[in-house]
Amino acid sequence: MYDVARIRADFPILSREVNGKPLVYLDNGASAQKPQVVIDAVTKAYAHEYANVHRGLHTLSTIATEKYEAVRGIVARFLGVGDEEQIILNSGTTEGINMIAYGWAMPRLQAGDEILLSVMEHHANIVPWHFLRERQGVVLKWVDVDSTGALDPQAMIDAITPKTKLIAVTHLSNVLGTKVDVKPICAAARARGIAVMVDGSQAAVHGPVNVEALGCDFYAITGHKLYGPSGSGAIYVRKDRMAEMRPFMGGGDMIKEVSRDAVIYNDPPMKFEAGTPGIVQTIGLGVALEYMMNVGMEAIAAHEEDLGRYTQDRLNGLNWITVQGTAPGKAAIFSFTMDGAAHAHDISTILDKKGVAVRAGQHCTGPLMAHLGVDATCRASFGMYNTREEVDLLIEALELAHDLFA
Ligand code: PLP
Repeated sequence: MYDVARIRADFPILSREVNGKPLVYLDNGASAQKPQVVIDAVTKAYAHEYANVHRGLHTLSTIATEKYEAVRGIVARFLGVGDEEQIILNSGTTEGINMIAYGWAMPRLQAGDEILLSVMEHHANIVPWHFLRERQGVVLKWVDVDSTGALDPQAMIDAITPKTKLIAVTHLSNVLGTKVDVKPICAAARARGIAVMVDGSQAAVHGPVNVEALGCDFYAITGHKLYGPSGSGAIYVRKDRMAEMRPFMGGGDMIKEVSRDAVIYNDPPMKFEAGTPGIVQTIGLGVALEYMMNVGMEAIAAHEEDLGRYTQDRLNGLNWITVQGTAPGKAAIFSFTMDGAAHAHDISTILDKKGVAVRAGQHCTGPLMAHLGVDATCRASFGMYNTREEVDLLIEALELAHDLFA
């Protein structure tokens, strides 16, 4: 039985008040709160076990290295990856996708080659591909979502041409909550030698992921949405793709030898991890992922599905709210606008007065906002610790905002 009260007790920030009201934190899509075990692990790492990793032979460096390196295995387990050498540790999805753009795509794609994107990508999975468009004439092609916000995998497969070299697609939209069935896309792409980069920033938070079963080439996650520290993350790169990749950044740790005339790189994945990494952040990420797996990814998914259904029902009762994204099986992420003049920023300010934290704006999804024909939305995004009572408080605060603006 999912004990949400027990889980909430693990997150100290959830017991604070904001503007004299109990905090209702519904901005998990932007960043999630941290359980005490993560806070303790970060404190302990700095207070008792801190040194640089990989370089020292002294005790503290050995402890820090062991703890840091253990996270590679934890991430592999979390993502259903058998061989942890296919995991590159980094600072988050933005770094991960840029690494693929600079390290894999730039040396391989030429003018006229095509990258397929869905219209609901986050800017982190758009702008690095624009670099290739600007710098080497690569063509970006877009696949729309339907009126419910669903992406038909067949539509993406049908958009493949002989020039397609890469498909970059989200596994779960940070705005619509739409889950994308990426497996058939990966199968069709693989049969044609096309690589698939899946942005798992949101999907990995809300339920179990097995990247080997998905069959993708690249899969990116970001620690701060996974109840871990900001500045942590990882990318899965399938071994054959890793062999094709060129290092994105050069520096210490990613080399075996450097002379005046030559460089011998470290073996992958270290070859792709230049410089001093986010040591403590990564250690915290490992603890966060263990925490999630202990709660149970299926259990988290079931709890959030219940919350999502309840939220949708309650929002359906407000006929002045328009929810963007109603695809079946969507995650508990609700972007909405309010009829009338109220701007998303004003609504979010009123909600904040009631202790309810939501995000307002474009959510780093310019093409999707244009497709939807809205300039901004409010977004309530749920996490493993949210409750039905908090949904009720959101609705109450929305009613207040509506009364003020109507
Ligand atoms: N992709 C998606 C779907 C996201 O929601 C986000 C964060 O909002 C990112 C990518 C970027 O992640 P980060 O800023 O942690 O690198």
